[in-house]
Amino acid sequence: MKNSIKKKLIEALKDQKEIFGDDLFEQKNLKRKTAIQIDSKQSSNDKRQTGSYVGNNNSKLEVKDKNPDMVYKIPSQKKEETKLFEDPKEKWELSKDLDELNNLICKCQNCQLGATRNKFVFGSGNPNADALVIGEGPGVDEDAQGLPFVGRAGKLLTDILKAINFSRDEVYIANIVKCRPPSNRTPYPQEMDTCIPYLKKQIELIKPKTILCLGLTAAQGLLKKKESLTNMRGKIFEFENIKVMVTYHPAALLRNPNWKRGCWEDVKKFRKLYDELAMNDGKI
Ligand code: URA
Repeated sequence: MKNSIKKKLIEALKDQKEIFGDDLFEQKNLKRKTAIQIDSKQSSNDKRQTGSYVGNNNSKLEVKDKNPDMVYKIPSQKKEETKLFEDPKEKWELSKDLDELNNLICKCQNCQLGATRNKFVFGSGNPNADALVIGEGPGVDEDAQGLPFVGRAGKLLTDILKAINFSRDEVYIANIVKCRPPSNRTPYPQEMDTCIPYLKKQIELIKPKTILCLGLTAAQGLLKKKESLTNMRGKIFEFENIKVMVTYHPAALLRNPNWKRGCWEDVKKFRKLYDELAMNDGKI
């Protein structure tokens, strides 16, 4: 099949999934799923179809993909056992501000996306923002610049924010994963699970009053819900006492301009919620 047709088909399927969730799709167990399936008890000589497993002296297992650049770590069983008794914090978890956090995590190689990224995309905006906007993950422009939403979808996001009287500097913008998935594919669950703790720490430091999730991946990743975008739009959810709303991803709007009206309705509601909370706080 021609590459351009294949790309269009994939995008159309992505859009359908965005709206209807997983129900339309037959669940298949993909062999290529890696770290999540690996039993850390396996011997270091163990080999599987998609890669070899290499023990290292930190009693961790590493997975070497067929691509020799892809090495990522799997938590050792020892660490799990320690966790039963205590919860030792990693250094980044104790960060006092966003800059410190960024410095401590920007070299992260905890999942395979670290091997292929150009730049780590931490997030940008007002570190004390009352509104946090969450996307899926960096695309090609973001990966090149190290900043979120700077490509075509980013321009549309800037316009959407402007339409509800937010400048980009007023809000904070971050993503579910901080490194670009190859060919802009949706991040794998294991990649999201590895990266979301960083986002949670950002949320803890920023302390926003409201969060706007852009697209299904951001919404499901943050809220841990398996609902479709259609079901989630227009509702107010809570994440650690913060009000969360969900709308379309700007990249999906670029492909389906007829969804812009729905997005406009969503973001107006988001602005209203933001204003109500600011009023309760005596900020306006
Ligand atoms: N799409 C996203 O989800 N995030 C970005 O930063 C850019 C495009």
